[in-house]
Amino acid sequence: MTDPIISVRNLKKHYKMKGGALNRSVGFAKAVDGVSFDIYPGETLGLVGESGCGKSTVATSLVRLEEPTDGSVIFNGGEWASTSSHSDTEPRSNDVTTFDKRDLKRFRRGAQMIFQDPSSSFDPRMTVGGSVAEMLLVHGMDDKQRRRAIVEDLLERVGLSAEDYDRYPHEFSGGQKQRIALARALVLNPDFIVADEPVSALDVSIKAEILSLLKDIQEEFNLSMLFISHDMSVIREVCDRVAVMYLGEIVELGQTETIFNNPKHPYTEALISAIPTPDPRTSQKGIKLEGTVPDPSNPPSGCKFHTRCHRVIQPDRWDLDQQVWRRLLNFRDRIQAGAIELDTLRENVTRQEDKGAVSADDAITSEIRKEFNLPQKLDDPDAESTLAEATEALADDDFERAAQQLTETFTTPCEETDPAEVSHSDTHTSACLLNDEEQSPMNAATTND
Ligand code: ADP
Ligand code: MG
Repeated sequence: MTDPIISVRNLKKHYKMKGGALNRSVGFAKAVDGVSFDIYPGETLGLVGESGCGKSTVATSLVRLEEPTDGSVIFNGGEWASTSSHSDTEPRSNDVTTFDKRDLKRFRRGAQMIFQDPSSSFDPRMTVGGSVAEMLLVHGMDDKQRRRAIVEDLLERVGLSAEDYDRYPHEFSGGQKQRIALARALVLNPDFIVADEPVSALDVSIKAEILSLLKDIQEEFNLSMLFISHDMSVIREVCDRVAVMYLGEIVELGQTETIFNNPKHPYTEALISAIPTPDPRTSQKGIKLEGTVPDPSNPPSGCKFHTRCHRVIQPDRWDLDQQVWRRLLNFRDRIQAGAIELDTLRENVTRQEDKGAVSADDAITSEIRKEFNLPQKLDDPDAESTLAEATEALADDDFERAAQQLTETFTTPCEETDPAEVSHSDTHTSACLLNDEEQSPMNAATTND
């Protein structure tokens, strides 16, 4: 098997948090927390996940626009591997994280980046040809005529014309600017390109054009690419393999077709089900990802996805509908966080009473259940008695007792155990307790609506 162009191992980027607020101590935002993958020559690896999960931080840390906190990035780009800037007797490290300034300059010739916003990536006072040609100048090409010829040729290859050389960025549309950004990324003949949401800022009609250009160029130049997007449908179109990222970690990695046809991680499943279908009335599988990615300075324990997972494990002692179980845990977490507006609920109740309803305490406990989409009576008597006690405590404004009742009774292994990576095949891995026979208390996957 050929060697990878780039091997990322246990990459971490922890941002120091400034302790401005009253009694909050200074901590770390673990934006990237131990990410590993390989990219092979000519291959496009997709990195997908919701906004805030750490994708851009992976990109900037791996090309050292940010200093990684930990991990290694082994780069075997052709030109780099065949020459040495160090002494012949001393084996040169090809770990990007240890590169000095000079190594970095060479590395950046072989590894280029394209960003989401094409408008901010050009100096408005410079012609676009000049911007692209500058890369050649910086890397030692003194011949002005030659620089111009190379850039004109490249502008044509990305679908613009040689005459565009002397025009300024504001004269181009977003899509055209992204073409220029691509020309600039290609001008030093790199082996590897990181494209961070390259089409996310573009109109739908332009998106397809730029994606198809990227695919053509990638084949023509035999490029390896890390292609970042929050959009599963874009990923499906351009990537050979896909890494799914959640809160600083890769939760699933596999061939694109495998990921889409046989996703093993509930997060992947949820992302796929969120792809709009041609007919808006038919939802894919009805899995709804609620809320947003949690704050990386205070991540959930165990599996970081457990707070939103539709398959969150229900211990054997319960036999609740899975959706009810999910909502019960949401309720528990909200009470624990003290995030419930009892006054608002009371007002609702008062309004209903005006129309002639039940007794005050019953009304408020019932209103609480409605607010959290919980049934008025749970099927399981033990679970029901705990929920009833908790809602009664809330009706008495006793948050602490309610929180205690709920957290003692409703627990899930997903919040206790960090899931290990499991291999489904040579090329397919995931990290979910449901897929891990050794760790999972109940291996039969929970059924879902
Ligand atoms: P994505 O590209 O997937 O949207 P990012 O890599 O931009 O995610 O951000 C990941 C997390 O790191 C976010 O919670 C973000 O707020 C945090 N983050 C990014 N840059 C910084 C920074 N310079 N300082 C502190 N936190 C940051
Ligand atoms: Mg980003």
